[in-house]
Amino acid sequence: MKHTLDIVPLKSWIDTGDKPLIIAGPCSAETEEQVVSTAHLLANTGKVNVLRAGIWKPRTRPGEFEGIGSVGLQWLKRAKEETGLLTATEVATAKHVEEALAAGVDVLWIGARSTANPFTVQEIADALVGVDIPVLIKNPVNPDLSLWIGALERVNRAGIKKLAAIHRGFSSFEKTAFRNEPMWDLAIQLKSACPELPIINDPSHICGNRELIPYIAQKAMDMDLQGLIIESHIDPSVAWTDAKQQVTPASLAELLDNLSVRHPES
Ligand code: PEP
Ligand code: MN
Repeated sequence: MKHTLDIVPLKSWIDTGDKPLIIAGPCSAETEEQVVSTAHLLANTGKVNVLRAGIWKPRTRPGEFEGIGSVGLQWLKRAKEETGLLTATEVATAKHVEEALAAGVDVLWIGARSTANPFTVQEIADALVGVDIPVLIKNPVNPDLSLWIGALERVNRAGIKKLAAIHRGFSSFEKTAFRNEPMWDLAIQLKSACPELPIINDPSHICGNRELIPYIAQKAMDMDLQGLIIESHIDPSVAWTDAKQQVTPASLAELLDNLSVRHPES
């Protein structure tokens, strides 16, 4: 079934030329130094369009690092001023939206655990009424295409036209090589249900380890997905969250150099 989303093309809000949109940065903002120095290294690669960093972290179990909180928004601001990179962070409540907007964050994303909850998505959507900002919506943790589309519709109905989906894989009971099963069929089904909607692949959260990222990123490019969001940390071995799947800015640059990307017109 086709779904009508009232959206504008990706290239009208971020011009990446012939290249896919690349969003990169640490899983979590940890310290000002870590955010700013990672941002400089990423900007220096000349291959990154948007700096990502989680300020509020949705942890499955309590008692772990739950994000640095609002102070990190100022670090993103400084990173942007010094590097010119646009910034992106995850929002899960109306208060997150208000604070991120007040701090000048350029792109917001909704995390996989939030997408699974229509009340949460609606709260975020309501906080976005009258706001013109790109919003990226990760697939829900469970393989439910309707929940994913429903979240996109809720945010779109709030007036957000700069909209994209993030394919970050789906949790499964079976233990496999992936942290979250890619279940590419769901991305394909989303593409056919909403042909105008850009889809960005998140190989970091699909793989859960650095080693498989190039393979998944290439597969996303072969499927003509519009971009990649990849976690990158100045020193992944000491990252406070998702240490196994983060890559240094230098390895990110190498990974992107080795990707074969079809020209959109070819
Ligand atoms: C993240 O991007 O760091 C994150 C928490 O992702 P997800 O919502 O996909 O688990
Ligand atoms: Mn992460």
